[in-house]
Amino acid sequence: MVRLDRLIEELVTANRILAREGVVDSFGHVSVRHPDNPQLYLLSCSRAPDCIENDDIMAFALDGAPVDARGRAPYLERFIHGALYEARPDVTSVVHNHSESVIPFGVTGRKIKPIFHLGAGIGKDVPVWDSHDHFGDTALLVESMEMGRDLAKLIGAGATALMRGHGATVASKSIRQAVFISVYLEVNARLQKQAMEMGEVKFLTAGEVDKVASRTGPYGINRAWENWCRRAGRSFEADEA
Ligand SMILES: [Zn+2]
Repeated sequence: MVRLDRLIEELVTANRILAREGVVDSFGHVSVRHPDNPQLYLLSCSRAPDCIENDDIMAFALDGAPVDARGRAPYLERFIHGALYEARPDVTSVVHNHSESVIPFGVTGRKIKPIFHLGAGIGKDVPVWDSHDHFGDTALLVESMEMGRDLAKLIGAGATALMRGHGATVASKSIRQAVFISVYLEVNARLQKQAMEMGEVKFLTAGEVDKVASRTGPYGINRAWENWCRRAGRSFEADEA
C-alpha cells in the first residue's frame, strides 16, 4: 500500500511538473502502470494537470474501463495509455500532450530530430501518426482502443510519436523518464525551429543519440526532477532506479 501511495504521489507530481514546464495546459495527461497488476494503469480523472490531487487518480483496465469510478469522469483519450501498455510490456509510463512547439512538426512534413544532447531521448526517428489515414475525418481525439492501438503500432519500439494536428505521445520505462523526454521534446522543437530559420541544421548522429541514451540515468534525471519539483511546489525524493 505504501508503494502504491508513493506512486500516486509521484504521478500527481508528474502532472504538476508537466503543467509548470509548459508541456500540458488544461489538457494532456500522464499515466503509470499499476505496480501490483500490469493489466491496470493509473491515470487522473478528467481534470487539468495543474489541479490534480491524489484522490483524482483512478485505476483503469487496459481497455479503458474504470475499476472504481466513484462518479469521476475519465479522460476521453485514456485509450492512448491502455493501448501502449497492452503493446509494450517494457513501458511503465505514458505522457500524452498538446505541447505547442511540436505541433508544426506534425503538419509540415519537417521531421523533428534530436538537435541537442538533452533531446536525444525523443529517439532517432520520431514518426507522425495521422488519424486521418485510417479513421478519416474525426475530432482528432483518440477515443477508442482501435485508434489507440493504431497509434501504438506506429510508435512500435520507440519512445515518441507526434500526432498530426493534435500533439504528441511519449512512452517510457518510468514516470520520470517519460516526463524528462516530454519536457525536452518541447524544448527540442523550439530550438529546432529557431535553428532551421538560421540555416542548415546538423542534428545529432545516430551514434550520438545512442551514446546519450546509454548515459541517461538517475544522475541526470534526479537533478532535473529535484529542480522541477521545486518549481512546481512539490516535495522531492531521489530515485535510485
Ligand atoms: Zn490529445
